[in-house]
Amino acid sequence: MNAVIFGAPGSGKGTYSTRLQDKLGVDVISMGDIFRTMLKENTILGRIIKRYVEAGLLVPDPIVVEVLADIIAHNPKGKGFILDGFPRTLAQAEALENIAKIDVIIELAVPDWIIIERLSSRRICKSCGAAYNLRFMKPQVEGICDRCGGSLFQRSDDNPTVIKMRLEVYQNETSPLICFYDTKSVPIIKHTTDALAMPPEKVVDHIVKELTRLTLI
Ligand SMILES: [Zn+2]
Repeated sequence: MNAVIFGAPGSGKGTYSTRLQDKLGVDVISMGDIFRTMLKENTILGRIIKRYVEAGLLVPDPIVVEVLADIIAHNPKGKGFILDGFPRTLAQAEALENIAKIDVIIELAVPDWIIIERLSSRRICKSCGAAYNLRFMKPQVEGICDRCGGSLFQRSDDNPTVIKMRLEVYQNETSPLICFYDTKSVPIIKHTTDALAMPPEKVVDHIVKELTRLTLI
């Protein structure tokens, strides 16, 4: 099963992908993680990517596509993947058609107000990156990471005004892509969250049930 997962920042995309990975034995291919790793490694491609990132430019599609094609080519046969953070444009979606067959789209729909609530109460550990939430996943000691004792901070872009802008960017980017896959008759599993604190198991169960119905797993 090859899937693409779409979800706004704060939709829980990372959490659900990891849980689906554990449950289904598929790989999660996260473009964000791949680039972060590549930037640390001193390879030719890593250095090229670094130049764009440092100049504040988007890495051009042909490079992103090349990186992805290489990763998919090395993906153990038959295992399948959940792709996160790609495609972001129609051109990328078309390029992806030549790399792999996408069987299903997983779309996490979360109302804006829930995302704003969640992200504005999010705190992140300076040392290990662990995420907390002052409303429903509080650290044991205020301002201190349970895992490593590091201090917690609020990301400067986790404020309502910036979150609204990020959500708008996400919507403008994603709607045409959902349309693209819909036109190609790729099944779309849409999960709509309607509560501020949604148990992750419930979401994952829904997605697994739909994947079973579609006979993809
Ligand atoms: Zn920590």
